[in-house]
Amino acid sequence: MTGPADLTEPAHTPGEVVTQAATAADLTGLDRRVIECRACPRLVDWRESVAATRRASFREQEYWGRPVPGFGPDDAPLAVLGLAPAAHGGNRTGRIFTGDRSGDVLFAALYRAGLANQPTSVSRDDGLTLRHTRIFPAVRCAPPDNKPTPAERDTCAPWLHREVELIRPTLRVVVALGAFAWAAWWPAFSRVYGQRPPSPRPAFGHGAIARCGATGPVLLGCYHVSQQNTFTGRLTPAMLDDVLARAKELAGLA
Ligand code: SF4
Repeated sequence: MTGPADLTEPAHTPGEVVTQAATAADLTGLDRRVIECRACPRLVDWRESVAATRRASFREQEYWGRPVPGFGPDDAPLAVLGLAPAAHGGNRTGRIFTGDRSGDVLFAALYRAGLANQPTSVSRDDGLTLRHTRIFPAVRCAPPDNKPTPAERDTCAPWLHREVELIRPTLRVVVALGAFAWAAWWPAFSRVYGQRPPSPRPAFGHGAIARCGATGPVLLGCYHVSQQNTFTGRLTPAMLDDVLARAKELAGLA
């Protein structure tokens, strides 16, 4: 998107996030605004202090240190919804799930499923492209201990909601990585599709499926690809393959 509507100051307040997200005309314009956002003081401090101090093994690299936008085509039928960028992953490289162990597991699985052109994701310019799939986090700045506060989650939600709105015409399936993403989906669903979530809300679980009204996409639960799950065997590559195969089937891609 070009033009005066894009020449906005960075969002500094929750209200400005609402306005800027709602008026983004397309994903390019949305991403441009997202990466300038400064609406959560604690997360701005954290992302920038991590970028300034760096991990020893990445000392020579310049960290991104900003909010991390979604990644993937704007006509994707399949979305993968995560929690937030990792301090030394997305917050370092500027692309979601890129440059950390979680991403290693996720992109290898997307490649096996035919949804990525390569199995690795190490930097923004590594040539990775996704097919039929867009990945985005519920919270766009790396939080301390991977735990955004409820207020930070809510402040960031309009970016997510607008992203879902912009891909709504093609969106058929949302894979929620973990309970946080599963919970973050329902306000997005209400906002974008104008419908109430099922009551009681379907419980998160690995392989859980929730139908979102007559017009919404199917929500598919998957354990998060965190090291906590993949190193312990709670989430295996085979389990991830099964979820992505099911997601492709539900999205009409199989
Ligand atoms: S978490 Fe979201 S709303 Fe908060 S500063 Fe980052 S991009 Fe902005």
